[in-house]
Amino acid sequence: MNDKIYDISIIGGGPAGMFAAYFARLRNLKVALIESLPKLGGQPETLYAQKHIYDVAALPKISGTDLTKQLNEQLDIMNCDQYLNTSVSSIDRKDDIWELTTNNETIYTKAIIIAIGNGAFKPRKLTFDYDPTIEENNLDYFVNSIESFKNKDVIVAGGGDSAVDWSIDLSNIAKRTFLVHRRNKYRAMESSVAKLEQSSVEQLNPYIIKGLNYNPDNHDKIDVTLKMIKSDDIKVVTADKLLVNYGFVSDSKILHDWNVELNGPFIKVSQEMETNLPNVFAIGDIVTYPGKLQLIATAFAEGPIAVTKALRNLYPEKNYFEHSTSIFEK
Ligand SMILES: Cc1cc2nc3c(=O)[nH]c(=O)nc-3n(C[C@H](O)[C@H](O)[C@H](O)COP(=O)(O)OP(=O)(O)OC[C@H]3O[C@@H](n4cnc5c(N)ncnc54)[C@H](O)[C@@H]3O)c2cc1C
Repeated sequence: MNDKIYDISIIGGGPAGMFAAYFARLRNLKVALIESLPKLGGQPETLYAQKHIYDVAALPKISGTDLTKQLNEQLDIMNCDQYLNTSVSSIDRKDDIWELTTNNETIYTKAIIIAIGNGAFKPRKLTFDYDPTIEENNLDYFVNSIESFKNKDVIVAGGGDSAVDWSIDLSNIAKRTFLVHRRNKYRAMESSVAKLEQSSVEQLNPYIIKGLNYNPDNHDKIDVTLKMIKSDDIKVVTADKLLVNYGFVSDSKILHDWNVELNGPFIKVSQEMETNLPNVFAIGDIVTYPGKLQLIATAFAEGPIAVTKALRNLYPEKNYFEHSTSIFEK
């Protein structure tokens, strides 16, 4: 077994998991925060980055992405171990220690907080078959490194905020940037669409992507076949990179294998956010209890309740009851 045993491992890096991780670090616990995507933030970051939120205490108006920025800033103060691109597939208990199996390493922990929202987000992928090796260099579903698009011919696919915003940003560094969307109208903020019109992005709509192959003359490049909607018009655009922003799908079916008691698709929790399993708690959108609201405000409150109960269970001798956090000032 790995030497490192965390006090609490939090599965899911949305608002619930991020704030719970911060709060647990503030209580001096050893914390792992595990997120299946390459970045933290959950729904506000992935589903509605530019939409404004008006019901988070002390923040009269904040966008999804700015809320994530603030949560990250707060979390960075406390230095918590983050496992990104890491999806937990199973949880098993051996000798009072929970073993979390992931697509990467196994994580060992005394307590777990499940904060998986609607389940693990995965990007919605192209639905036709293509050579999977294209994903190594030419096809992205996320921008991991903006530098990889520098001086390249880039096709961005999609019509939402992410696709519009990325095409504008990439057009500043790419050689040429195309935006392919199946409708003539975008589902993005009006201000972003106005910026798009002023940019050098070449808009190809209404087209859908029908095929993706290596360019036969130059294997570093790809040929993207586009079909015009309600027409037989076919175009093949040769590019270096294709960035697909078709949104996300989520999957919470995994919970059935974790032996955690469910009520419909949700985890049943006590007033102290306990599940039926020892030292396994759950918070945020995935839980249900009488009066539960699926809001960020409630998710934020549930974290401290779960962390405090875990702390009481793990270290009953510790003085855990602190009204004022100013005692944590260094
Ligand atoms: C369009 C829209 C608008 C909204 N507007 C508002 C609003 O104005 N105000 C408000 O309060 N709420 C709003 N909400 C609801 C709010 O976003 C949710 O209540 C909140 O995101 C719940 O946070 P969470 O951390 O529980 O879950 P999520 O935000 O869903 O985060 C869960 C995270 O867990 C990760 N994960 C899941 N499974 C695994 C796994 N097995 N391993 C590792 N990681 C995993 C996921 O990838 C995800 O990042 C809105 C929701 C939507 C969809």
